[in-house]
Amino acid sequence: MSYEYERVATPAAGLRLFLNENTAGCSPAVMQALATVTREQVAFYPDYDEAIAACAARLGVASDRIVLTNGLDEGILVLSMAALRGSPIESPFETIIVVPAFDMYAVYADAAGGRVIQVPAGQDFTFPLDRVVAAINERTRLVWLTNPNNPSGQIIPRDAILRIATAAPEALVVVDEAYADFSGESMLDGDYVDRVPNLVVGRTFAKAYGLAGLRAGALVASAATLATIRRIVPPYSLNVCAAVALPAACADTAYHRWYLDQVRQSKSLLYDAFERLSVPHWRSAANFVLARFGGDTPRVVHGLAARGIFVRDRSKEPSCAGCVRITAGVVEHTRAAIAALEEVLCGAA
Ligand SMILES: *Cc1c(COP(=O)(O)O)cnc(C)c1O
Repeated sequence: MSYEYERVATPAAGLRLFLNENTAGCSPAVMQALATVTREQVAFYPDYDEAIAACAARLGVASDRIVLTNGLDEGILVLSMAALRGSPIESPFETIIVVPAFDMYAVYADAAGGRVIQVPAGQDFTFPLDRVVAAINERTRLVWLTNPNNPSGQIIPRDAILRIATAAPEALVVVDEAYADFSGESMLDGDYVDRVPNLVVGRTFAKAYGLAGLRAGALVASAATLATIRRIVPPYSLNVCAAVALPAACADTAYHRWYLDQVRQSKSLLYDAFERLSVPHWRSAANFVLARFGGDTPRVVHGLAARGIFVRDRSKEPSCAGCVRITAGVVEHTRAAIAALEEVLCGAA
């Protein structure tokens, strides 16, 4: 089987609630930092010392436990290469993916020659710990745990992560924390990456920090694990703008806090609206909410698009038939989305 990322068409204008981006834009401090970039800086290969120090301090880890990547997507590619390269054709190395999941895990496993083992989540997207443990064997080299999950927004208990890391000592067990800013729960709280040698934590500055267009992510792991990863990451992975933006983004903690609060309020408005409209949905620890519109899904997606609001139909994902994922960003944006949704569902003009 082969996997491919399904690119979504970029709308010319309107409200983007389909890729879980920061709907407010980045911190103004980032724009000020970008304005200081000189012609020489553009001409020279970038240095990452300051960016690494800022990100390490912000994430609460030592500088030698972190490697920056061109978005977490590149981190996922690098981890897939590190774990799955040299896979024997007759009995390929395996990567366990709890589905539904972010598409790129399977896409890059494919590219690296590994075999994808999909483990379905339980009822209401509960984490299928026993099924994951049962799927581990001597060929398992990589396990993907998204915490909180995309698209369901559900949390994985910390004990489950630790149990999997113990059960799969030959594998890299990666916790993709792309949305951990919003959940407030991270494997970086505590010295897990040092105590659990096969644990890797992935972070991104694309979502909460609003740097998706600049491309900046990070992998955090023990020194030994990071050494194998560093060999694969391109030496100039981030461009100079991302390197200059990161310290500014990390320093503006007030902006980060403000945005997390906007997301929290937006989710609560979405839950209320879904209750009113009798739309089944799942409470989310991330910056989006998954809701089941069932047979109304095409009408909802197209009706919202006609009103300039773009959401993501996740119907093709496992266990997500009839489900739409809506980004929860700035409160005012969420109110506009809810008003449009009410029009579409209630048939008002
Ligand atoms: C958005 C996302 C990423 C990729 O982040 P980038 O830094 O933009 O590459 C990785 N994992 C998950 C689960 C995501 O939703």
